[in-house]
Amino acid sequence: MIQTFPKGGVHPAEDKFAAGSPIKTLKVPEAVVIPLSQHIGAPAEPLVKKGDTVKTGQLIAQSKGFVSANIHSSVTGTVKKIDSEPDSSGYKRTAVVIDAVDDDWADGIDTDKTLKKNITAGADEIVRRTLDAGIVGLGGATFPSHIKLSLPKGKKADILIINGVECEPCLTSDHRLMLERGDELMVGIQLLMKALNVTRAFIGIENNKPDAIAHLSKLSADYEGIKVRPLKIKYPQGAEKQLIKALINREVPSGGLPVDVGTVVHNVGTAVAVYEAVQKNKPLIERVVTVTGRDMKEPSNFLVRIGTPVRTLIDAAGGLPDNTGKVVNGGPMMGKALNSLEVPVTKGTSGILLIPADKAARKPVVNCMRCAKCITVCPMGLEPHLLMPATEFGKWELAEEERILDCMECGSCSYICPSGRPLLDYIRLGKSTVSKIIRSRKQ
Ligand code: SF4
Ligand code: SF4
Repeated sequence: MIQTFPKGGVHPAEDKFAAGSPIKTLKVPEAVVIPLSQHIGAPAEPLVKKGDTVKTGQLIAQSKGFVSANIHSSVTGTVKKIDSEPDSSGYKRTAVVIDAVDDDWADGIDTDKTLKKNITAGADEIVRRTLDAGIVGLGGATFPSHIKLSLPKGKKADILIINGVECEPCLTSDHRLMLERGDELMVGIQLLMKALNVTRAFIGIENNKPDAIAHLSKLSADYEGIKVRPLKIKYPQGAEKQLIKALINREVPSGGLPVDVGTVVHNVGTAVAVYEAVQKNKPLIERVVTVTGRDMKEPSNFLVRIGTPVRTLIDAAGGLPDNTGKVVNGGPMMGKALNSLEVPVTKGTSGILLIPADKAARKPVVNCMRCAKCITVCPMGLEPHLLMPATEFGKWELAEEERILDCMECGSCSYICPSGRPLLDYIRLGKSTVSKIIRSRKQ
């Protein structure tokens, strides 16, 4: 029987319009805006100043503290300013703005596309290079990858899980990456296995990508310990806890980490980035982004430099359709609406979704009818119909007791609610307040 996670989940329309569109490399933009906070954790500290010239791949900001990531220039040019610039959240954050003049890569970076299969780096060197290259989780979580590779004292992993699920409807960047860069992915997985000292790796891929399943199954036959595992289609199977349950039937405890059950999860894009960092000495300065929507002329997957304005990607995919009602950073389930097309692509940008006006409007909100559908679909076993009013009326103790912090913001509850209740919006708000309360209690 094909595996999946047992509790909750939904199956939204897939609409993967860009699935058949091979990855195109976008030309280097005239200017880039590179935020110093593109990852979970402390923003990086700038190493450059206005007027400095930088090369492509040069370190321009150093990770600061334990949870942080290095940032590199994605172009060759001159630093125009270091200033507060709006990012995809709508807030202004410190960013390095660089006017590009050329594409001259920093010394020591191997830009040759030849596959480098032979692994000479030891475990510590793999972790160090991942840190140096500023690799973060490319599935959207943007957690600095070197931390996941440095297991806490006393913890041990026996299985590496590679996330090729791509369960967000509409997104196809991971799908294309698996089809087009499978060889690099395999070497990247071997590097991750070596860093973690594990002998087994499972690549989880949902059944709606049979070509990727077939391609990687064939390639993995040449690699000891790496196996492809097809999964039933169900959202949010790409979430770490659900993927672990689906693939190896282990349950991560509330507030726990995958390593607590002997595993570590990395996205397919992250594994390719680790390959480039270790084997090619290439920092993370570009990524694959899906640009799609029902009425787009050319739904596409682009390899794009970090810092490129979102508008450039939309123009390259045929332009903004007249009937666009909303532009979303990410997929329809977990993505967030953008309020400007001038904001830059960052390490966490997996897709840009254009929603037509007739689909963008929210359903009218009516009273909860106690149908319990939101409870049935919640993969974390929460009661969203309770968490929303707890937030609305500031009942923080209740929200904490009802484990609001376990919500992984998958949006399944809002998606299913027949009363149009914006459950996730309130729960997000509630999570941030409850987190603050818990932090202040500890001080
Ligand atoms: S409460 Fe959170 S985890 Fe549960 S369905 Fe809603 S968004 Fe997903
Ligand atoms: S799905 Fe909506 S209407 Fe049904 S119980 Fe949950 S909040 Fe209420």
